[in-house]
Amino acid sequence: MSGRKSRASVKLRAAWAPWLGLGLLLACVLPGSADAAQRSARGELKRVLVLHSFGREFRPWSEYARSIKAGLEQQSTWPLDIQEHTLLSARFNNRGPEAPFVAYLHSLYEGAPPDIVLAIGAPAARFAQRYRATLFPDTPMVLTVVEDRLVDRADLTDNDVVVSAHLDFMAVFNTILRVLPDTKTVAIVIGASPLEKFWTDALKRELKPLENRVDLVWYSDLSFEEMLARAAKLPPHAVLFWGLMSVDAAGIVYEGDIALRSLRAVANAPIFSYQDPFFGDGTVGGPMQLTADTSRKTVDAVMRILGGEKPSAIKFEPIDFGRPKYDWRELQRWGISESNLPPGSEILFREPTVWERYRWQMLLITAIILVQSGLISGLLHERRRRVVAEIESRKRLTELAHITRYSAVGELTTSIAHELNQPLGSILTNTETAELMLQGNSPDIKEIRLILADIRRDDQRASEVIRRLRSVLKKTPFEIKEIELNETVREAIGLVRAVAGARRITLTFTPVLADLRVRGDPIQLQQVVLNLIINAMDAISDANTGKREISVWTVRTDGKAEVNVVDTGPGVTPADLTGLFDPFFTTKPQGMGMGLAIAKTIVEAHQGTISATNQQGGGARFTIRLPLRG
Ligand code: ADP
Repeated sequence: MSGRKSRASVKLRAAWAPWLGLGLLLACVLPGSADAAQRSARGELKRVLVLHSFGREFRPWSEYARSIKAGLEQQSTWPLDIQEHTLLSARFNNRGPEAPFVAYLHSLYEGAPPDIVLAIGAPAARFAQRYRATLFPDTPMVLTVVEDRLVDRADLTDNDVVVSAHLDFMAVFNTILRVLPDTKTVAIVIGASPLEKFWTDALKRELKPLENRVDLVWYSDLSFEEMLARAAKLPPHAVLFWGLMSVDAAGIVYEGDIALRSLRAVANAPIFSYQDPFFGDGTVGGPMQLTADTSRKTVDAVMRILGGEKPSAIKFEPIDFGRPKYDWRELQRWGISESNLPPGSEILFREPTVWERYRWQMLLITAIILVQSGLISGLLHERRRRVVAEIESRKRLTELAHITRYSAVGELTTSIAHELNQPLGSILTNTETAELMLQGNSPDIKEIRLILADIRRDDQRASEVIRRLRSVLKKTPFEIKEIELNETVREAIGLVRAVAGARRITLTFTPVLADLRVRGDPIQLQQVVLNLIINAMDAISDANTGKREISVWTVRTDGKAEVNVVDTGPGVTPADLTGLFDPFFTTKPQGMGMGLAIAKTIVEAHQGTISATNQQGGGARFTIRLPLRG
């Protein structure tokens, strides 16, 4: 049996498959048809007739209607057909012709009445009650957004539910005077339609006790244009009370929020209102009729009636004002202190402080700044330590360089003494000669003058030797200044020229024919050159019978100043070339091995380099390179 059944269902599936496919396709392409399918699944369609008082876009009713419709859509378990009609006659200052509208509704709903009638606002409620017998004799009605005083209780039937509100104007005005105690004038903005006239009269009656306290100015007989002009020139300590503005005394109709926006734009005083739908659009706030309260009860009544409950069983107390609420922006604008607000007030539209708005960003930035400051201070500390260490090492270098200069000069003592002796000996001989000539009868003055000139030249020569010695032996701190490198090299050569001569070595200096401006310490750079020449002289041993030459020359290459010291000695063995500049590297029995190490340190402190190579034809070549200035 099960086999047969399954075969049959396979056949069925095969027969319906194309239709099912088409159905699915239509459901995808036409969402309405899917919607309808869903609705019919939910149950029978309910028709709700909504009657508006002034129009669909008249505040405050429009906002109540919007909220109620949204609530119905949300809560209804049935598909809803909401049909809306507007009672234009409420706009006319004299009751307009209602008969055509009644006839229209009659023809629409005769024989097919709606499931429920929802009248929004007092004019709609009045109309619905007046024509109930003709139009919807058996249809349940919910009269909502209507003030308790405007409910026509005598005409209510068992089929009606009232969702009314109770407006306590005295409470509203007392709160205004509490919030702004210096208030002297209250200008009341209200229109001239029958409904608005009703409220003007009611307000005048109820506010009578306040007449001694404040000046109440009534705008109800003015055109809205005139109201705007007055609102712009209110005396100090005045406020505006926004009642209603649907139709002004000139018969001009104001829909939506146009009127309130225009008033706010020109008014020189704060605007107070008791209606939720105007809150957030320029009114300060206060105790007010909350849209949500009325809407919730209305939706509840409609749902219960549609669900089958008897309207007579549904009773609501008039809705009172909700908790006072205020617009923070308006409080700021008019300088109203929060401490003046009634206890329990709610403040809305508060603009978040910069801190509230950018909390995370600010925290992040602060954290980054803190981390960065930490890093910077760490780096600064590190840099300071480095600078201190650098200064310290430079001091040590200067001291060490000074010591090695002493030892270098020590090596030169004999020849220096010889160099000094020569001019001194000449001076002595020349002086003796001059004395002898002066003893004669007719001394040759011309000759004596020449001798004196010789004496002066020799003296200068000796002084120069001493000057150079003193300058190279001076203990000075490392001091960088702009120098001419050819000059520095020449000074160093001047110190060793005589020594070279004594050792039968030809020392030549060929400076480049251009200025070699570098930044450096002249004494220390002289020491480097001196050291290289002394090493070169040491390399050319006494036994060396070949060429005995040391050539020093300078050149400019690639933005560098170059000093070369080349000798005709044996050169450096390839194995030694690598360790030549290491401290304590020496191949001499009495050597210290510090000369080249110090030379390297000095040159590097000048951002330069020093290198050693062997010449092709024999002998070593030392090259110093220093950055040129400019
Ligand atoms: P020291 O002169 O006390 O030995 P230096 O640091 O001045 O110390 O020199 C280190 C070594 O480098 C020398 O012992 C020598 O072997 C080698 N040297 C330096 N200059 C030359 C040169 N012009 N020719 C050959 N060898 C050299």
